[in-house]
Amino acid sequence: MKSKIIDIVIIGAGPSGSVAAGYLEKQNASVMILEKQEFPRFTIGESLIPRCMDNFEEAGFLEVLKTEGYQKKFGARFIRNNQIAEFDFSKKFGTGWDWTWQVPRAHFDKILTDDLISRGVEIRFNTEVVSAEYNGEMWKITTSNDKGDAEEIFCKFIIDASGNGRVLAKQLNLEAPPKIHDHSSIFTHIYESRRPKGIEGELISFEVLNAKTWFWYIPFSNGKSSLGFVGPNSWFDTFKGNTQEVFKNMLLETRYYQGRFDDDTMDFPPVKFNNISRNVKRTHGKGFALTGNAAEFLDPVFSSGVAFATETGLLAASLAFKEINGGNINWDLEYSDYINKGVNVFSTYVKEWYSGKLQEIFFHPEPDPQIKEQICSVLAGYVWNSKNPFVRNHARILDNLYELISRSKIV
Ligand SMILES: Cc1cc2nc3c(=O)[nH]c(=O)nc-3n(C[C@H](O)[C@H](O)[C@H](O)COP(=O)(O)OP(=O)(O)OC[C@H]3O[C@@H](n4cnc5c(N)ncnc54)[C@H](O)[C@@H]3O)c2cc1C
Repeated sequence: MKSKIIDIVIIGAGPSGSVAAGYLEKQNASVMILEKQEFPRFTIGESLIPRCMDNFEEAGFLEVLKTEGYQKKFGARFIRNNQIAEFDFSKKFGTGWDWTWQVPRAHFDKILTDDLISRGVEIRFNTEVVSAEYNGEMWKITTSNDKGDAEEIFCKFIIDASGNGRVLAKQLNLEAPPKIHDHSSIFTHIYESRRPKGIEGELISFEVLNAKTWFWYIPFSNGKSSLGFVGPNSWFDTFKGNTQEVFKNMLLETRYYQGRFDDDTMDFPPVKFNNISRNVKRTHGKGFALTGNAAEFLDPVFSSGVAFATETGLLAASLAFKEINGGNINWDLEYSDYINKGVNVFSTYVKEWYSGKLQEIFFHPEPDPQIKEQICSVLAGYVWNSKNPFVRNHARILDNLYELISRSKIV
C-alpha cells in the first residue's frame, strides 16, 4: 500500500473544503483534499447570501468567480397568497456585501477546485476516505479510489468538510439529534421556455404554501432554473407516484407559480432528500475540526448553508494552521463559541419561520423601514454583527415584535 505525509488533510471539495484549502494555499501550508466523487457533480445549495462573498474573497476565489457570469442576487422575495415581502440587500443595516450569486453548484464547485489546482493544491478526486485513526500526534487516513486501490495518508490535522458523508461524525460517534425534525425536500432543474424578463426571471423567490411548507424558484444565468419544495414529512406522505409525478402534483399547489412551468422539461427526475437537518455533539477535538454540513445543517429557508460552510471552513483552516505552527488555540472559544453565535441566530429565525411568527413579521403590510433593514442584514448572513439588535437579542426581539403585530400595533 502506498503512503504519504502531509500537514492538513481536508475531506471533501464542496465550498467548505475548497474555501479552507484556498486559505491554506495562501499561507503556503502543506494541504491536500480528498474527494470521493469526480467533478463536476450535482449537489444542491444554489442560492448564496452576501456573507459568502467575504469568505470567497479571503480564500482568494472572488476574482475568478466574477468572470463566470453567474446570475447576480441582490435580494430575495417571499410570496404568500397575494402578499409579497421583498428584501433588498443594499438596504440592510450595517456594512457588508449587498449582492451575491445564484449558482448551479456542479459548475460552481468545479470552478473552485479548478482554481485550487491551478494554484498548486493537490486534490484527489474519486478518492473516498474510509477510515481515520489518531494516535495523539498523527492521523492515519485510509482511502480507496475508483479502481479499488487503497492508500494510507498521514497528517497532523483533519478538516472534515465531507458534507452529508459526515466521515468523522460517524466514525467518532458525534452525531446528535437535528434541531429541525422530520423535514424533507424534493428538487429538480428545468430549462425555462418562457422565462419572463426582469426581476420575475432573475430574483430568487420563495412561495409559502402553508406555514410549514414552501416552494423555491432560483433562476440561473445559463437559462436553467432550480425548483424545489421543503416541508414536513407528513406533507410529502400525501403525494403518491414517482418523483416526477409527485413534483408535478406539488406544483399544482402553488398559486403564484401555477402553470408557469407546465411547458418546461425537467433536466433530471426530481431528487428527494429525507430529513434534511443535521447536527453533532461537538464540532472539534484534538487534531480535527468539522466544518459545513459535516458539522451542522439547519434548513434551506434562508439559504444559509454555503455561508455556514465557508465561514466554518475558513475559520477551521486559520486555527489549524496557527496550531500546527506552534500557536495555542482555545478551540471551544475561538471555534465552537464563535460558530454557535451565528448558528443560534439562524436557528431562531428558522424556528420562528416555521412557528409562523416570522412570516407574520415579513408579510406585515406596513413594515418599519429600520426593522426591515436590520432583518435584511440577518438574511444577508451578517449574523455576527452584535450592533444589530436583531442579532444581539434575536430570540426576544422577534417574540416582542410578533406580540406587537398580534395586537395590531404598527410595526
Ligand atoms: C434541499 C436543500 C436545499 C438547499 N439550498 C441551499 C441554498 O439555497 N443555499 C445554501 O447556501 N445552502 C443550501 N443548502 C445547503 C447546502 O447544500 C450545504 O450547506 C452546502 O452544500 C454544504 O457545503 P459543504 O462543503 O459542507 O458540503 P458539500 O457541498 O456537500 O461537499 C461535501 C463533499 O464531500 C465529499 N465526501 C463525502 N464523503 C466523503 C468521503 N468519505 N471521502 C471523501 N469525500 C467525501 C462529497 O462527495 C462532497 O463533494 C440546501 C440544502 C438542502 C438539503
